[in-house]
Amino acid sequence: MAASWRAKDVRPTKRQADPPVAVERRRLQAKFGYNQNVSDCKSGGQLTHPLDAFSKYTQRRRLLFQVGDVISYLEMCSAEGVNLQRGMNFRLGKTYSVILMSVRPNAPYADRIEENGRVLIYEGHDVPRRKNGPDPKSVDQPMLNPGGSLTQNGLFYQAAKRYIEDDEPPEPVKVYEKIRSGIWTYNGFFLLIDAWIEQSNGRKVFKFKLEISEDQSRLEIATNAISLNHNRLIPAEVKRAVWKRDKGRCVICGSTKNLHFDHIIPYSKGGSSLVADNIQLLCAKHNLEKRDKIE
Ligand SMILES: [Zn+2]
Repeated sequence: MAASWRAKDVRPTKRQADPPVAVERRRLQAKFGYNQNVSDCKSGGQLTHPLDAFSKYTQRRRLLFQVGDVISYLEMCSAEGVNLQRGMNFRLGKTYSVILMSVRPNAPYADRIEENGRVLIYEGHDVPRRKNGPDPKSVDQPMLNPGGSLTQNGLFYQAAKRYIEDDEPPEPVKVYEKIRSGIWTYNGFFLLIDAWIEQSNGRKVFKFKLEISEDQSRLEIATNAISLNHNRLIPAEVKRAVWKRDKGRCVICGSTKNLHFDHIIPYSKGGSSLVADNIQLLCAKHNLEKRDKIE
């Protein structure tokens, strides 16, 4: 199995838990029967043959996620058109950046959610671990690479300063979150509004403040993404509790495919994002049916 993964366009990686994008691309092609490639992802996934409304919807949603969708690592990479190896990806797309977060108890970085799910505080990243090098957790997080170029910390930091000091528009940042091994959710677009360096356990770490965008739709149009009007993040511990309670299945039909974290009472109608009682897992079909009833 491992040998068949070694496609040319895949960078070698020590973590082989997730097979590369090329494999996922072939899987999606087999599943959907059309030639989905990187430019399709970026141009919004043009469909090349007639499909009924439901499969058209599911096809689009696997490339262009809604906020709250449960996705695999490979689907995330397919949507972004790259093999995501790093947590921080400045200007991965032409018009936005991508960060991967994890607030699990054993997560490597201290990311946190504040202000009822509106604000995300994201920690910068350590120097890479090197043979005979220092413990990355014992040294300052770097602004610059050894050659003098900005690290990902530096790129995000400078972008935040340009917003604060030079009145430039804030950097849009797409946020994906790991729930458990191989299982991710799409958290939507945030705006990078501040950055600072603080002391933590005797060393300097970067902190980035991101605010969920009230205007997801404008960013979605600009970047060919879609979502409903979710404007509050479901905290990771709530997502984990819901996942466990619903056993990773649609609560209506038991499907384990194309799942979505659904607000039982929509946020717009006063439902909370912060309690598991108001969140459930639905498959794409039942999520769509429910949405049609509400709208
Ligand atoms: Zn279902």
